[in-house]
Amino acid sequence: MMDPQKGSNSEQAALADFLSRRERLLGKNAPLFYDTPLHLVRGEGVYLYDAEGNQYLDVYNNVPNVGHCHPKVVAALTRQASTLNIHTRYLHHAILDYAESLTNTMCSSLSSVMFTCTGSEANDLALRIARQATGSLGVICTDETYHGNTAAVDQLATLFNGGKPRGPHVKSVPFPDTYRPPMEWDANDLCDRYLASLDRAIAELEEEGLGVAAVLLCPIFANEGVPTAPPGYLQGVVDRVRARGGLVIFDEVQSGFGRTGNMWGYEYARVIPDIVTLGKPMGNGHPVAGVVAPTDLVDAFRGDVMYFNTFGGNPVSCAVAQAVLDVIQEEQLVKNAAEVGAYLRSGLRVLQQRHDIVGDVRGPGLFIGAELVCDKSTKRPATETARLVVNKMKDRRILISKIGRFDNILKIRPPVIFSKSNADQLLETLDEVLVEVHRDGVLK
Ligand code: PMP
Repeated sequence: MMDPQKGSNSEQAALADFLSRRERLLGKNAPLFYDTPLHLVRGEGVYLYDAEGNQYLDVYNNVPNVGHCHPKVVAALTRQASTLNIHTRYLHHAILDYAESLTNTMCSSLSSVMFTCTGSEANDLALRIARQATGSLGVICTDETYHGNTAAVDQLATLFNGGKPRGPHVKSVPFPDTYRPPMEWDANDLCDRYLASLDRAIAELEEEGLGVAAVLLCPIFANEGVPTAPPGYLQGVVDRVRARGGLVIFDEVQSGFGRTGNMWGYEYARVIPDIVTLGKPMGNGHPVAGVVAPTDLVDAFRGDVMYFNTFGGNPVSCAVAQAVLDVIQEEQLVKNAAEVGAYLRSGLRVLQQRHDIVGDVRGPGLFIGAELVCDKSTKRPATETARLVVNKMKDRRILISKIGRFDNILKIRPPVIFSKSNADQLLETLDEVLVEVHRDGVLK
């Protein structure tokens, strides 16, 4: 029988062929989005188009931050790619111009750039810099995080790594969450409770003779589900880690480049880290990433280690990244993320009033989490319903995703060119879908 969501029998057969070819060539478990995967062929602005020409509103992808295939970014790439592409061991103005433009957007201590190709490599490198600078090995992260896929960075994560335990030099602390804190904790002293678990992690690293090289955190706890941290938490973390000689690394792979309604997540968090790592939106889809750190730290590291990254920060990548920065400035996208983000959050809070299933709406700028629960008083996670909602939104041609320990938090994170009318379209459709999942059955 034909499934209306999956198309005609011949379309289903074509999809089955596509999937079996993919399984053969990429392996069985290569991840895919959605119950019925999407075959996209084109992107423009906030829209994506599938092979049948259907248009989708992209409310998920933060890599094409300034919009899919932005003409200025594409032109910069084409221009430089047809002139010269070489690595960073030759002199090239584009590399320095970009490093200067980038560091000019940050506070004065964040003054030198080391380029990589991915966020994973940037975090890996930041850990190496911190370990070299402090002479310590220990690293602290949260208990529900992801910072990338190199062997060293994979040791920090349990999320997305098949539940493997953390590595030997790593201690994790519970991520700060005022909506769903540990049950036995008193709501009035959450900040102290979370910081006490950090104190314990520091003490354990010291007892084991590892010391504290760094804490590595996303300043908005993106992969943890953008929880609202108790006021004063991040400053408390920074004070404690620095007091034990460790460095504070903020992973801005998700929070950077305007996402929070500030250029940098650390501005949103009101805390200045020692090192930031960048990636995803930096090249709007082109693989460029990096570490920004004080010049003396970079000098000391490079004095000891001949770090070289063949593709990292090549002139094409830098031309692309420069165009991305220029577009963010020219189109005032930081302000847009703040304004449209606030508009969307208030619309989602109206849905929260209307629908029992929406337990919490939170997040900075255009990174919004809407936590689905079966019951607002017990907060039992509505994991299966979140899966249904994401798939039903896709069937209505709106792309969102889900995240969190229980996979029950709708992840709403569009390119930062997202407009209020795009937000209205999302809100209307989500309202319909929430009515439908409620009408269709028990929340689970
Ligand atoms: N840090 C964070 C916070 C991320 O979310 C990710 C990727 N999702 C990474 C680092 C790794 O970046 P990449 O995939 O470019 O290696």
